[in-house]
Amino acid sequence: MGTAIQVELWHDRPDVGARAVTAVMNEMRRIDALMSTYKADSELSRINATAGGAAVPVGDELMALFLRSATISERTGGAFDITYASVGQYYDYRKGEKPDEATLARALAAVDYRNVRLDTVAGTVRYAHPEVRVDLGGIAKGYAVERGVAILREFGVANAIVTAGGDSRILGDRRGKPWIVGVRDPRRDGAIVARLPLVDEAISTSGDYERYFEADGVRYHHILKPATGRSSGEVRSVTVIGPDATITDALSTSVFVLGVDKGMALIEDMRGHEAVIVDAGGRLHYTTGFVRPDS
Ligand code: ADP
Ligand code: MG
Repeated sequence: MGTAIQVELWHDRPDVGARAVTAVMNEMRRIDALMSTYKADSELSRINATAGGAAVPVGDELMALFLRSATISERTGGAFDITYASVGQYYDYRKGEKPDEATLARALAAVDYRNVRLDTVAGTVRYAHPEVRVDLGGIAKGYAVERGVAILREFGVANAIVTAGGDSRILGDRRGKPWIVGVRDPRRDGAIVARLPLVDEAISTSGDYERYFEADGVRYHHILKPATGRSSGEVRSVTVIGPDATITDALSTSVFVLGVDKGMALIEDMRGHEAVIVDAGGRLHYTTGFVRPDS
């Protein structure tokens, strides 16, 4: 997944606790082997290589994530779009590479979540445009931590936190106290802009500081506007809290693309979800139902 995985849990028996952690790590590796676009032999890479021609078989797990992604795309007016990768594949943030204008224009024609045609009866997927590439980077880590917590439950764990990069799923409380999750300051390494006390919730943060390079005064980072194929400059970071990490992961990416006004309106409209945004000027915006950590 190209990211740090962290598991913290309580169990009366240390040996069972240790086995539970191993099981979570194995599950992370299994999901990565299924969905990584860095691995040529993953199921997703195989689909990307072939689904631009004919319909190809897709396993239940990927099918379910494709379906959930499509629902979120509909809900966000296309701000969340797993076909962003049709353009996204031409960026390399480590090497400081971006597509030239001709490549961007050509690839952008393939970006549209409706191009992913799912047949749930036949269990197949077909891309309606030959240049479509799908990447689940905006939802897979949330799914992975959700799976991690499901496994911990099977081991009888009732108090835990599982984190993959900017996505965490919390199980229960921290033995009588809430878990405290910090929201990073997008411009000061190691600094925190808010501390959120959480019990039994998922929390996801998307930021423009994770993967980026700067050229000609522009910050090129890993969250792209599907409409333009360019990095979204609306905000610096978005944190979303809700019951399910798969959803909070996709929503934090979505709100990042939508910006403060549309993003806040979306989350206000979603029962059980709250958000805090650090805008382009560094100011904080909280949804109305947010229990302010400092109040
Ligand atoms: P992180 O990967 O740092 O946790 P996010 O959860 O915000 O951050 O996910 C960013 C990832 O989402 C990108 O690296 C990319 O794989 C994917 N992505 C980028 N833009 C979009 C988009 N508009 N819709 C869906 N996924 C996207
Ligand atoms: Mg996300």
